[in-house]
Amino acid sequence: MKIAIVGTGYVGLVTGTCFAETGNKVTCVDIDKIKVEKLSAGQITIYEPGLEKIFLRNIKEGRLKFTTELEEAIEDTEIIFLALPTPPGADGSADLKYVLGVADHLGKILKGYKVIVNKSTVPVGTADKVSAAIAKHYNGEYDVVSNPEFLREGVAVDDFMKPNRVVVGTRSERVKKLMSDLYAPFVRQGNPVIFMDERSSELTKYAANSFLATKISFMNEIAQLCERMGADVDMVRRGIGSDDRIGKRFLFPGIGYGGSCFPKDVQALIKSSDEVNYDFEILKAVEKVNAHQKLHLVEKIKAYYENNLQGKHFALWGLAFKPIDALINAGATITAYDPEAMPNVKAQIGDKINYAENQYQALEGAAALIIATEWSEFRTPDFDLMEQKIQNKIVFDGRNLFDVQKMIELGYYYESIGRSGSEK
Ligand code: NAD
Repeated sequence: MKIAIVGTGYVGLVTGTCFAETGNKVTCVDIDKIKVEKLSAGQITIYEPGLEKIFLRNIKEGRLKFTTELEEAIEDTEIIFLALPTPPGADGSADLKYVLGVADHLGKILKGYKVIVNKSTVPVGTADKVSAAIAKHYNGEYDVVSNPEFLREGVAVDDFMKPNRVVVGTRSERVKKLMSDLYAPFVRQGNPVIFMDERSSELTKYAANSFLATKISFMNEIAQLCERMGADVDMVRRGIGSDDRIGKRFLFPGIGYGGSCFPKDVQALIKSSDEVNYDFEILKAVEKVNAHQKLHLVEKIKAYYENNLQGKHFALWGLAFKPIDALINAGATITAYDPEAMPNVKAQIGDKINYAENQYQALEGAAALIIATEWSEFRTPDFDLMEQKIQNKIVFDGRNLFDVQKMIELGYYYESIGRSGSEK
């Protein structure tokens, strides 16, 4: 099939590349000229394990192309995917200006029957809005379909090539056949392509992310109880996770969920619920718990230093904005290391904190180490090197990376989330 992908960011590039890999001819469009130039020259713009190899192979074999021209991209295509940003607007609802802007443009240039498939995460009713935006300028035949994306960054190629399920929102038999054929190579092992109406499909994506966020906030509250009741959240997690009605995943307590999807999707579903006069109480609590949890580790640190962080210097493994702000506002300084996020964070907060070249350098001169994210290199550090660099063997671990007993045996003062730690 001939496919156009509009928006060549995270979702667009993975989608385009994987569809090309199964033999389709794919043209990816983006308004970002520099991005398109790089991609056309064979330079990949995101890091995803396994993606570069198939990206290069499909460019070489002529199945994957890039352009800035929407009109050129949709020529002769049957299917047009939208993988455009839907960032939170000022009131928390998903901003549809990119999606509806492209829909409006498509209305002006469509010729002949096309299927417009929305892969962006969008509020219920967006398929109708896209359809109406096209209909303003175009009175030919077309279908607008919802096909939410469930890939996770870091394992995006695997998620796309072997999805647990594919959700397609359409009531058109013609589209069902087309989408079944398109996804057939990805569901050979028998995972379902679930067809439903457009609105249910749009809601499915928000329901999935909101449910996962709920699981995380629930476990963070159980961790709070563990700390107050002398129980161990690792044991409780294993105890409940082995019940297959509950499942093992998303039961890890920490310093709250973050990232590019959960906060915005939870917020957007709360907003959509308000708009239909439904007070989504659980989800509001999920957000509230998450906001508290982001500061829980900082509260532990403050308690340890008896509320006096003035002039204290901390090493931070993993960048997390809320703790950084709270520590700095309390008069502390920070040297951070993060294997991925440093360039972005540097661009946003500049020299508010210091940046180390590696996780061990960050430890130099620090009163304590604070762990905020769970990169694998943090999980298995060189404890001998750590011992040489760290002045005070004090660790506040927001991700429960280490075994409590092991840390105590190594002579550390160690606090984590929902587990008993060192006695002060
Ligand atoms: P992204 O910001 O990485 O990519 C969006 C791309 O669209 C950018 O390259 C941008 O330049 C381009 N763009 C903007 N306006 C355009 C226009 N008018 N024409 C052509 N291109 C245009 O975003 P993303 O992470 O790929 O997310 C896209 C959607 O998918 C969002 O709704 C997001 O919520 C959803 N989603 C993301 C993930 C994820 O893990 N990143 C997972 C599932 C769903």
